[in-house]
Amino acid sequence: MKNINNVLPRKEDELELIHSYQDACSEKDFQEFVRGINASDEVLMKYTSSLIDAKEECKNCKNCKGLEHCKNKVVGYCYTPIPEKNIIQFSYVACKWQEKSEKENAYKKNLELFDMPKEIKEASLKNVYTDDKSRLPIIRYFKEFREKFQKEENPKGLYLTGSFGSGKTYLIAALLNEMAKKQISCALVYYPEFLRSLKSSFQTDYSEKFDFIKKVPVLLLDDIGAENESNWSRDEVLGPILQYRMQNHLPTFFTSNLTLEELESSLATTSSGVDKVKARRIIERIKQLSIQMELIGKNRRN
Ligand code: ADP
Ligand code: MG
Repeated sequence: MKNINNVLPRKEDELELIHSYQDACSEKDFQEFVRGINASDEVLMKYTSSLIDAKEECKNCKNCKGLEHCKNKVVGYCYTPIPEKNIIQFSYVACKWQEKSEKENAYKKNLELFDMPKEIKEASLKNVYTDDKSRLPIIRYFKEFREKFQKEENPKGLYLTGSFGSGKTYLIAALLNEMAKKQISCALVYYPEFLRSLKSSFQTDYSEKFDFIKKVPVLLLDDIGAENESNWSRDEVLGPILQYRMQNHLPTFFTSNLTLEELESSLATTSSGVDKVKARRIIERIKQLSIQMELIGKNRRN
């Protein structure tokens, strides 16, 4: 038989519950807080310490100016009592700042990064420097690109060349972030590292990565030409990716420190010898896929 003393609340325990609840109620804040909860004192008094925590969190939320000022245990969430029949559940409820931030950041799920710094998802056309004029034709082209894309006119990407640190990657990332806000999937791929990782991938992983880059609706191949050329990377990776994207009219952007002419000679010479025809073929595909532009500017890297 069960020991009945373990099942029924003992008298002293009950008295203690009442006392601590009464104690808490002597504070005006607490009193007001529990008055706003649709539950009787008999129910409320079972949760005094949780209610004190919830009241503190709720107080923190009043007049809070944003997530960076959040004082709650879980940033962006408020520990909240939710009354149900004869019990009270406690739940972490997202605050208005958290909700706002989730809404504003929803586009990021449409951006796949491959070995690019996470902050690149924050790049924005609104913040693009306009202090040097070489950026203006590019910005103008972006407008045209977006309009054509919307009308399904298969706009070409850009082959953006120029000096190190001038902001090529930032600029294109800013455009792709805007596209992502329109629910278009984009991938930003740091190409030299992508090649390295592809090389060391096993079969299924390899085809998954390869297919993804081939088929993603909008692609940036960042820093092309900075990799060590091999026949494999030129003929088995870059060639087929470009071929597929060309045939399917998938917008493709490139950034490079090399001009197309320089890229061509770099592609021609691999560790296995010189093959000008194969290099030429790649360049032709890049030209089919993109318009060449140049971004010359001071180095923005610190
Ligand atoms: P590149 O690709 O031409 O080498 P990046 O795009 O990497 O140059 O830009 C160099 C640095 O300057 C990066 O740290 C980048 O975040 C910053 N940067 C470039 N353009 C802007 C911009 N318009 N607003 C803010 N930061 C920028
Ligand atoms: Mg770059």
